[in-house]
Amino acid sequence: MANDNDNSSEMMEFLDDKPSSESEAPKVKSSVWRILITDDEQDVHTATTFALRNTRILGRKIEFLHAKSARETIEILKKYKDIAVIMLDVVMETPNAGLDLVAVIREELNVTDSRIILRTGQPNQAPEIEVIRDYDINDYKLKSELTQSKLYAALTTAVRSYKQIRMIEAGKKGLDMIVRSSADLLNKNGLHAFAQGVIIHLSGLLSVPPEGLICVRRNDKRREGQPEIIAAAGQYCNLIDRPLADLEEVHARTLLESSLDTRSNVYDQYGLALYLGSNARGDMSCYVSSATQLDEIDQSLLELFCTNISICADNLTLLEQLSDSAYIDELVGLPNRNALIKSIEQTLESQSPSGYLLAIADIDNFAEINASLGQKYGDRLLQAVAKRMRKYFPEPCVVARIAGDTFAVFAKDTYLKADNILEPFSTPFDISGEEQMISVTAGMVPLEKVDGGASEAVKDASIVLKQAKTRNRGDMCRFDSVMVEQAKDRLELLKNLRTAFDMERLILHYQPKLCLKTERVLGVEALLRWPVEGGEFVPPGHFIPLAEQSGLIVRLGEWILRTALMELHVLDHHGWHDIHMSVNLSVAQLQHPAMIQTLKRVLAETEVKPEMVDLEVTESIAMDDACYNNKMLNEIKTLGFQLSLDDFGTGFSSLSQLQKIPIDRLKIDQSFVQAFEDQHSRDIVELIVHLGRKLNKKVIAEGAETKEQVDFLKSLECDEVQGFYFARPMSADKLHLWLKEREH
Ligand code: C2E
Ligand code: CA
Ligand code: CA
Repeated sequence: MANDNDNSSEMMEFLDDKPSSESEAPKVKSSVWRILITDDEQDVHTATTFALRNTRILGRKIEFLHAKSARETIEILKKYKDIAVIMLDVVMETPNAGLDLVAVIREELNVTDSRIILRTGQPNQAPEIEVIRDYDINDYKLKSELTQSKLYAALTTAVRSYKQIRMIEAGKKGLDMIVRSSADLLNKNGLHAFAQGVIIHLSGLLSVPPEGLICVRRNDKRREGQPEIIAAAGQYCNLIDRPLADLEEVHARTLLESSLDTRSNVYDQYGLALYLGSNARGDMSCYVSSATQLDEIDQSLLELFCTNISICADNLTLLEQLSDSAYIDELVGLPNRNALIKSIEQTLESQSPSGYLLAIADIDNFAEINASLGQKYGDRLLQAVAKRMRKYFPEPCVVARIAGDTFAVFAKDTYLKADNILEPFSTPFDISGEEQMISVTAGMVPLEKVDGGASEAVKDASIVLKQAKTRNRGDMCRFDSVMVEQAKDRLELLKNLRTAFDMERLILHYQPKLCLKTERVLGVEALLRWPVEGGEFVPPGHFIPLAEQSGLIVRLGEWILRTALMELHVLDHHGWHDIHMSVNLSVAQLQHPAMIQTLKRVLAETEVKPEMVDLEVTESIAMDDACYNNKMLNEIKTLGFQLSLDDFGTGFSSLSQLQKIPIDRLKIDQSFVQAFEDQHSRDIVELIVHLGRKLNKKVIAEGAETKEQVDFLKSLECDEVQGFYFARPMSADKLHLWLKEREH
């Protein structure tokens, strides 16, 4: 797939006008560096070739090979044995395609000398440190980072490394050691450990005892010219973190200074100072005392070692930066949720959870503050809150921002107490000269009560917080295992409900409604059933509220409506033309913007007449947001549906409100019908029947279980009735049988 087209090579000759010693290298066919670009985006191929057209690296031209997939890469690698560098996209067919490919290259194809530069689109696609280490990856870069000069620099380093690997194949043993040592070095956490490792490996390479030190001349302006010792071994041990000037041994000091000044390796008969390159941290040099004379191979090895080390150090810096952005919240500079979880995990690894508390505090109405005063203001407020929390809970407390306006404190109970978590918020915040008072709600869990690890702790605290938000807004809520268990059970139930719905395991049952006077069947009410093992049903009272809270009821409700109307169609088809279908609508459905559309669509699909459908809404609908609900109810009426007010008598609809809403029927709540021994309940039933008559609405009584109850309702001349006395809710098949039986 080499695609050097003729025009471009001509252009290369033409543009290649800088006479340099490098360009005078003999132009034999084989003297090119083969660079394989593996990337599924054509643009990357084009851009890379363009950026490096007419460039020479270490005296040779570059020949690009192109692969767009893992398969093509493998084919090319099998064909060409002298590929110097593979520039590999991490994310191709799959998010890990590139890394998987690296494994194949190194392990299956056994290509160990080609250098690999990984390229990623985004920082979060960066490979794990283990991958870089295990697969001997030279370098990895963000695509956005690869400007022409950086690309050139990265390739040159890689090619040099490749060249040296090939050049000193004779010194294979030493080479292995270098590759392994630099891989091993990346294992070390942090600069100190890394530097320590360098000294040990370098001494190993030179077969001398580990006596040496490493110093850095930092990049930051103030300390320029003042190299510091960052690692030391053997007799130099006590010099760590001291300025190089403190090193009394003149000879070593001079070598190090000279290496840093000339940015090169410096040797003399007592030892050597290796320049380890420059990176974000600054220039680094390593001194090892060694009286052995270095031959050419040794020197090549050392150079190679240095190249690898400086790349390692670069990667270390990059990884630390990446890890910072993965663990630090940029806006407020506090640890984020990941970091919090990590801290908790680390604590739990070494200590018992007893005495540790996790508190989560959430600003009340933050969205409104943001909306009314602007996001900048909101950001400043969050920063001020972060600062204040940090001040109240200094180290060793961990303070983190775990979500938009949610902060967490993880600490021992000596620092964090139920009564001090809200203390930071007792005085106003100064936001650009404005005094802003905020109210905060908090939830707190003792770690020993958490059943699980750090993530569970955060989850539990969030549950407590959520409860506090609904019950104790502006206050602190303590862990209550029953409450957390219940909340978890509800989540579990909701998850199962979703699955049951998606697997089409939910069904509808139908309960007949009759005319009280004639006992003729007027209609049926569709009631949702969730069958579980053993022929049982999960009570709708348990799961319908969950479906409502989670919004699942909207999808679910549409299915219920469609299924019920299809059944109505079937009933009609079987000759029961005047049976109505009642369907329950919850508030969440009624208030959904697409409600009317849905009703129209289902009507059209099922071809039933809307006047045969009775939608039951609860009485509370007439109460909250009456204006909007009224509008919706009117629209539903306009479509031709009938409307009933369910559970009537339990809400507190005002009579004037009741007159305004366009309903056809009041459905007396079953609790009044069933408590009919009680005079008070009887009075209410009677009152509702009269009210209906006055308002010119039909009245249906539900939950009639006994003959006495039915007789009482008859005596009041209530219009309709529904209840176990006549029929229980039943499957569609049973309903058909039941209806047939009644006909006889
Ligand atoms: P609801 O709309 O008031 O439904 C009437 C409930 O009373 C049904 O309970 C029914 O089985 C029960 N019932 C009827 N006659 C009697 C009786 O004589 N004695 C007793 N003890 N109970 C009787 P179910 O099916 O358990 O439903 C409970 C609630 O769940 C319903 O109250 C309704 O609010 C909700 N629900 C059920 N199906 C649906 C549905 O498809 N959509 C919506 N949004 N809610 C539903
Ligand atoms: Ca109902
Ligand atoms: Ca009801």
